[in-house]
Amino acid sequence: SEQATKYSRVMLKISGEALMGDQGYGLHPPTVARIAEEVKSVRDMGVEICMVIGGGNIFRGLQGSAQGMERTTADYMGMLATVMNALAMQSALEAIGVFTRVISAIPMDQVCEPYIRRRAVRHLEKKRVCIFAAGTGNPYFTTDTAATLRASEMACQAIFKGTKVDGVYDKDPKKHADAKRYEHVTYDEVLEKHLGVMDATAIALARDNDLPIIVFSLDEPGGFRGILSGQGTYTRVQ
Ligand code: UDP
Repeated sequence: SEQATKYSRVMLKISGEALMGDQGYGLHPPTVARIAEEVKSVRDMGVEICMVIGGGNIFRGLQGSAQGMERTTADYMGMLATVMNALAMQSALEAIGVFTRVISAIPMDQVCEPYIRRRAVRHLEKKRVCIFAAGTGNPYFTTDTAATLRASEMACQAIFKGTKVDGVYDKDPKKHADAKRYEHVTYDEVLEKHLGVMDATAIALARDNDLPIIVFSLDEPGGFRGILSGQGTYTRVQ
């Protein structure tokens, strides 16, 4: 279909929790399928799509270490959780005819592809959705940082961070009726005011590589496609 967007290659970052629906834990396949439809509608505009999915719906390293686990081991478990989420998303995308590759920072050849930058770029050129799994492959990092790193490597024009709210607010909009949404906020403001868009490592990496972050609501049906076509509400971090 006709391309009605200025974007040709983007990164979509979602948390693991986005996949759990109303459950308190794990994967909710109908929710995964709904997000897959959102991705397909953007793929159908001709946009090349990279994805990074968190692992917090299954395991977070910090939680494990707070309960006495060795931190790096707990972080590797968190990275493995992201691989499970990536495989669930791949399954949902391919069920609706979207060719997808799961590409892991930690090689596990029977399960998915290892990360080879030039190979990933080729997949994108062939209009395959690339889901980057296992974070950066290193403990002490987050999937927000992984998304920023891969978006930079793949030369994405922006990171689209899908959340439960339609942007960045000065205070929690679910608790304060007078919370104000920022139209635009700088990387340094996010860091100084602790606005909680992404962790500081990810924000600094995005800043240093001039990568805009667009925070939007993934709960809005058609929201991802709308934002890419210049509609809807969001916050631009740049
Ligand atoms: N993780 C890591 N290195 C990375 C990315 C992730 O060690 O490069 C681990 C970390 O323990 C983290 C977990 O994987 O808690 C899940 O990722 P994240 O918390 O970013 O998921 P989200 O909050 O987006 O669901």
